[in-house]
Formats: sequence, C-alpha cells, structure tokens
Amino acid sequence: MNTERLLQELAEAPGISSIEDEPRKIMRMHLQQLSDRVYQDGLGSVIGVQNEDADGIKIQFAAHMDEVGFMVKIVDEHGYLRLQPIGSMWTHVLLGQRMDVKADNGRIYAGVIGSPASHGLPKEVKERTMAMNDLYLDIGASSQLQVYKAGIRPGCMVFPHGLFTKMLDNDRVMCKALDDRAGCAAELIAFEYLHGRYNAPLYCAGTIQEEPGLRGARTATDVIHPDLSLAVDTTVAGDTPADHNTCRLGGGAVLSMIDSNTIAHRGLIRYAETIAAEKKIPIQYAVFKGGGTDSGNIHKSFEGILSMTISIPIRYMHSMQSIISMHDVEACAELMSAMVLGMNQTKYKQLLNGWEDDDD
Ligand SMILES: [Zn+2]
Repeated sequence: MNTERLLQELAEAPGISSIEDEPRKIMRMHLQQLSDRVYQDGLGSVIGVQNEDADGIKIQFAAHMDEVGFMVKIVDEHGYLRLQPIGSMWTHVLLGQRMDVKADNGRIYAGVIGSPASHGLPKEVKERTMAMNDLYLDIGASSQLQVYKAGIRPGCMVFPHGLFTKMLDNDRVMCKALDDRAGCAAELIAFEYLHGRYNAPLYCAGTIQEEPGLRGARTATDVIHPDLSLAVDTTVAGDTPADHNTCRLGGGAVLSMIDSNTIAHRGLIRYAETIAAEKKIPIQYAVFKGGGTDSGNIHKSFEGILSMTISIPIRYMHSMQSIISMHDVEACAELMSAMVLGMNQTKYKQLLNGWEDDDD
C-alpha cells in the first residue's frame, strides 16, 4: 500500500462520530482485499479477519474512523447553523475556519465559522475565547427556508474542510482528520504485511465513535474477544512552541504509557521495546494524561485484555489542520507487524504472568 495515497483517501473522507459512512466504505474496501471475512458490528465498526478458525493467539488491531466536528443543532431564522460539538475542541482553533456541511441528499455546502471582526472589539472580549455555544456556521444562506430546502437540518454533519497537503519537508503532511485516519492507515499497512505471514486469528477493526467516549471499541471487542489488542491512535507531538509532550514528529512509533483512562500493560510495553530493538524500529515514549484511546475500553473488556496503544505524534490535534510524519505511520505499522509475528502461546503466557526483564 502506498502510505501517502492511503492517508489522503482516508483523511479527506468526511466522517464525524456516528456518521462514519465514508471512511468506513474506504476501510471496508481495503479490508475486503486483505481478509477472509469482513463484518460490521451493530453500532457500525467494521472488522476484517484473517485465519479466523485457526488456533493461536487472537490479536486485534483497532483504530477509530471518526473525526471531530459538529452536528447542526438549530437552523436559525436567518439561515445560520447553530452547532453541537462532537468531540473536544477549543474555540480558539475554530473561529474563521472553513467547514462544510453535508445535506441529507449527500450534497456538500461550504461554510465558515463566523468570527466577529476585531475592529472595535473591547479589550476584555479580545482577550478571552469565545464560548462554544456562541459559534455558528455561515453557509451564505439568505433564509431559514433556503437552508431547509437544501436538505440541511438538525443532525447533519459539519466537518472541517482540510485537503491533504504535502509540506516543505516531504515526509510531513497536513490534513483534517489525521486523528485517527493515520491510525487506520497504519493498521491497514500492518494487516496487509501480515497477510499470509501470521497463522493465528488476526483482526483489523475500524472503530466508530471514539471521540465522544470510545464507544465502537467496546462493541468491536465484544465481537472479536481478542487475547491481545493493539490500538493505534495519534498523540500530541511536543515539538512545537505551544505543546508539551515527550514525543516528536519523525521520531518513530510512540509507546503510550498512560493517558486519561489507560495505563498500558507493562509486559506488553517491554515486549514492544524488545521487538523494536531487535528489528531496529524507531520508538519513543509518551506519558500524557490528557486524552484517551480505544484501549481505554478494550483493556477492561471481558476478564481483562492485554492492551496497549501505539501512537503517531500529531501537531495541532483536534484542530482543522493537523500535521504528521509519514515515517511515523510506517514505523507504527512495522512495530505492530513485528509484535504480531513475534507472538506465540509461550510468549503470551509469559506476558500474562508478568514480564521479567532478563527474558527474551
Ligand atoms: Zn484519536
């Protein structure tokens, strides 16, 4: 798979939480070529499986397909769209941004999050952020009726308008929704590599509704009941003047030690480190209490599932334009592949029973 093409097609597809149809269609198309069977759970996560009936350690990959955005809450009497945020965002990154709305008939209308002109704004207003409730989308309609006639009504999806762009350093790309379409790309690349190489059951899940609360991961895991799970998501890159984290763009796959709802399985982290050293895959670490990933629900499923999150550093997470390094996406895919190939019953039991540093 070509990393750049895959990233572009995944990231440009509009799909906020609960309206993941377009990214799911792309995931399904790729999964169909790599899986013995592809199915969808009751909520809408899509799952491809290789070697379903084989014995051995059942491994699950998970990456979420939804992106942050809004739902139309109210079409006001002037035709402005009042907005319900889906996923966490800061109003600072929203004012004046181009966003699009998808009407019921599938047509896309361009809009902009209205921003008051700075001219004459009192100092105290300029110095604070606007309340999320005061934001609205201006789609250039001249009346409420005109908006309704276009098929736009409460519940319609409002999503960032961010086209995939290569940057000065050719390894770096900018787009909306790279959280977590970059993870979707990484798991597909690994799943493709492992086709015919791993002989035990391997599942690749595109999960839904991660942003509002890791919901699709729960049902996908119920369907799969894996022995071991690797979620792949993005994490804040600390290499900008504005952010603080221990990982950086281009530094490789991030082992996420802790976030707001998961502490990675210690044995699995040690295993990942050993494998990365053996295969010379670049890794780095994040200990970042903000945010969460699908692992937050996966590790608590059933009797407890061995889980960790492998992350892709991202700049400007949950804004309308994020930046990642394609090299990091590939490093994540390599690490996931190598961890799968190194897994067997003995190793798994060793991890379950506690990792000892002097074991190989
Ligand atoms: Zn994410």
